[in-house]
Amino acid sequence: MRTASAGEESVIVVGGGPAGLACALALAAADVPVMLAAGPHRPGGFDRDRRTAGLFAGSIELLRNLGVWDGLKDACEPLKTIRLIDDTGRLFRAPEVKFHARDAGLEAFGFNVPNDALVDALSARVAATTGITVVPTAGARAVRIGPGQATIVLGEGPELSARLVVAADGRKSPTRDAAGITVKTWSYPQTAVVTWFSHQRPHDGISTEFHRAVGPFTTVPMPGRYSSLVWVEDPAEAERLMTLSETEFRRAIEVRLGGLLGTVGEIGPRASFPLSGLTPDVFGRNRVALVGESGHVIPPIGAQGLNLGLRDAATLADCVSDAVSAGHDPGGSEVLNRYSALRAPDVNGRIMAIDLLNRTLLSPYLTVHLIRGFGLHVLNNVDALRRLVVKEGVQPTAYIPTLMRSGGTAPATAGVLAPA
Ligand SMILES: Cc1cc2nc3c(=O)[nH]c(=O)nc-3n(C[C@H](O)[C@H](O)[C@H](O)COP(=O)(O)OP(=O)(O)OC[C@H]3O[C@@H](n4cnc5c(N)ncnc54)[C@H](O)[C@@H]3O)c2cc1C
Repeated sequence: MRTASAGEESVIVVGGGPAGLACALALAAADVPVMLAAGPHRPGGFDRDRRTAGLFAGSIELLRNLGVWDGLKDACEPLKTIRLIDDTGRLFRAPEVKFHARDAGLEAFGFNVPNDALVDALSARVAATTGITVVPTAGARAVRIGPGQATIVLGEGPELSARLVVAADGRKSPTRDAAGITVKTWSYPQTAVVTWFSHQRPHDGISTEFHRAVGPFTTVPMPGRYSSLVWVEDPAEAERLMTLSETEFRRAIEVRLGGLLGTVGEIGPRASFPLSGLTPDVFGRNRVALVGESGHVIPPIGAQGLNLGLRDAATLADCVSDAVSAGHDPGGSEVLNRYSALRAPDVNGRIMAIDLLNRTLLSPYLTVHLIRGFGLHVLNNVDALRRLVVKEGVQPTAYIPTLMRSGGTAPATAGVLAPA
């Protein structure tokens, strides 16, 4: 058995999804050496990730500061307006609400970013970054937590040890479980069917969420006359949608859109994701910090999941960098408590808000629909409140990590990719 010690100041990142890759780069940008144990990336069991992610201004700033944005931006589309349409067909319907990026003094809220292009761009940058050692693996097999360090046992045999391990190994995170961090999980009676399609009319940078009694039907602009689609249905209907022929599925999208984007042309492959939620009791314990879906799972409403994951990555880099500069243990409880305290309000607040929004759609009670309609009516008519909601959605004001501010430092590369 070979054992590699990652050194006194080093950190091991487990997981090669977007959150783990971004975290490895953020740590390297803060001059913290990283060992990245990257398992095969097969979200939902597919070879490619067919989802796109609406990433807000802070996340885009992070990608820019990590040196990946220039190579990625042509695959992405700016999100200028978010439109909510009440399509519940109920007695009390909410008014249509539009959030404009210009209300927050921005040209765009952010960009719609294809997940596979993002993972490719982050992976290429990781491979070119001198401070990151990539340890390809079929997966970490076991995790041993000791008083002074944590050890990751890879499926292939080698062991990696460091004072801090980042669990970026997704929602089922074995690393999190090994650290004794417990989670609360729940599921929704909903499944998201995901694809992309071309359409006759321009989208004008508008993402439209049709709020329906079974869940939202959301189009998100992509470059040209293309949009990505997240169609939330009850599980039986989602299964039916997955088996429709392309012609039938095209027609089903057109009916839902009611002519909003004109006729529908080309359609991409479909993938389905059952909706669920997850929160941990703490974001770091026993030399393990949670980053990405190991620390939060949230329904795909309001485009929050990966934005949270990227904020985790950038915040952890700040906490570790401060500890290392002060000569403190990067995996000690002081660092993990600070990280946890910084992440808990942001993550828990958003999970609560999205859960509430989703449950008010699913609720059969008239009073709940009235309250929801009233809330959206107030948002629609009170400019200051709408501006506040837009600002908080794009970039929370409580703590802005260094790499999410303009002008952060890109990690040093071996010269393969020029820093942005
Ligand atoms: C339909 C849908 C739409 C969404 N839309 C948006 C959106 O618009 N905006 C947004 O911000 N978010 C969105 N999200 C959320 C976003 O997709 C996720 O937050 C993000 O993909 C999670 O990334 P991750 O790196 O945390 O986890 P994952 O992508 O799951 O990566 C985990 C990685 O860990 C690896 N791994 C697992 N076990 C091990 C092991 N034992 N050893 C080593 N490696 C291991 C896996 O191979 C994988 O590569 C959406 C989600 C869904 C379902």
